[in-house]
Amino acid sequence: MSGNWPRSVVVVGAGIVGLSTAWFLQERGVRVDVVDRGGVAAGASWGNAGWIAPGLAVPLNEPAVLRYGLRSLLNPAAPLHVPASLDPGLWAFLARFAANSRWSLWTRAARANLPLNDEAVEAYEVLAASGVSAPVVAAPITAAFRTRRQAGTVLAGLRRLRAAGQRVEVAVLDRDRLAEQVPLAGPALTAGVRLDGQRYVDPGAFVHALGQAVMKRGATVYAVEVDDVRTDGRKAVVRSANGTVLSADAVVLATGAWLPRLARQWGVRVPVRAGRGYSFTVPVDHPVPGPIYLPDVRVACTPYRDGLRVAGTMEFRDPDAPQVPARLDAIIASARPLLRGVRWEERTDVWVGPRPVTPDGRPLVGATSAPTVYVAGGHGMWGMAHGPITGRLLAEQITTGKQPAALTEFDPLR
Ligand SMILES: Cc1cc2nc3c(=O)[nH]c(=O)nc-3n(C[C@H](O)[C@H](O)[C@H](O)COP(=O)(O)OP(=O)(O)OC[C@H]3O[C@@H](n4cnc5c(N)ncnc54)[C@H](O)[C@@H]3O)c2cc1C
Repeated sequence: MSGNWPRSVVVVGAGIVGLSTAWFLQERGVRVDVVDRGGVAAGASWGNAGWIAPGLAVPLNEPAVLRYGLRSLLNPAAPLHVPASLDPGLWAFLARFAANSRWSLWTRAARANLPLNDEAVEAYEVLAASGVSAPVVAAPITAAFRTRRQAGTVLAGLRRLRAAGQRVEVAVLDRDRLAEQVPLAGPALTAGVRLDGQRYVDPGAFVHALGQAVMKRGATVYAVEVDDVRTDGRKAVVRSANGTVLSADAVVLATGAWLPRLARQWGVRVPVRAGRGYSFTVPVDHPVPGPIYLPDVRVACTPYRDGLRVAGTMEFRDPDAPQVPARLDAIIASARPLLRGVRWEERTDVWVGPRPVTPDGRPLVGATSAPTVYVAGGHGMWGMAHGPITGRLLAEQITTGKQPAALTEFDPLR
């Protein structure tokens, strides 16, 4: 490494996390190049629900999720699905996830995520105000329920999040106010909870605009797969199978659900597994003023172009496995009875993408066992919301050599 801090960095992974890190490094005067095997937004950062929702960003290792997971294990129609494979790594991961699904550890993860939630929106505003030309839309997120009792369960979860320190502003809606807020709500939905102060984006458009901004500031995005990362302690060298070799003062591995493949050799032992989700776009006959959450069936809907993006399912399967049509059918079968005016048969853009899930609800952000190798990933359900602030904090660490307090709980070597 030349000088006191890296003057040049190669970022592997052009999702929201890698490109945000690249942008904030450039902001600090670092020369950056980016490598992604599929180009910009080729992973989870394309077809997600796009919620920048600090008021909902809870860690996944909730005891309720575990109970739910055990009940729905192996059921192809359940929103959470674990295929009956013999992958021992997956079962080891799930055992660790189960061990972390205790309220004390959930609260630890919720507290650790607070600084990311606090600054998530501001980090987006910085990008949007400084050349990333894609809208960040302010809108409440409305959760809609069949019964008031079901609404009560979600309110209890939000109270728990508030007790952990998260600012949460909610309004409880009766049937009439729900219908006003969510014109797509069908007659089966009788109660709502509106969460104010949230944002949403078109994730693919945002990440492409971020990629453009990073390139405009001098980066090249190489569309190759990295299969080797080396360092002599002063320089980091990444190589692809096709012979591309890039060298810099440091490398950031931001490869989402694929993170362990390159990070394990640098002492990163916390596993990251793909919790795959599906999405598609449908035309609608009523306006969609803001995102809609259907907690009972775990489906997220977001205004998207002139229609609605519908996203759901958590399927623990290889990140590169093909789509499983039964998962898509299960989303439609569960949401169809709840919404009206949705033209399900005309769906387009069917997509599957891998949420990078860690067993303890905390991402992996920071230095590794090699002084020139950093990692940034494992944000699970909330990488879109937490990507920009992660990039800002990691760029600070790389260029000052000091770990920001907000990153201590995310130490990749824990
Ligand atoms: C259905 C669904 C809905 C979601 N909704 C939301 C939401 O509303 N809000 C929210 O905050 N989050 C949401 N998420 C989660 C969010 O999408 C992810 O947490 C986030 O996109 C992760 O970003 P990333 O940059 O870490 O990973 P990715 O976007 O997956 O980027 C990793 C990149 O690394 C590249 N790569 C991997 N290996 C290599 C290699 N060896 N060489 C070169 N390149 C490589 C991949 O091609 C990929 O482009 C959702 C996810 C899903 C699936």
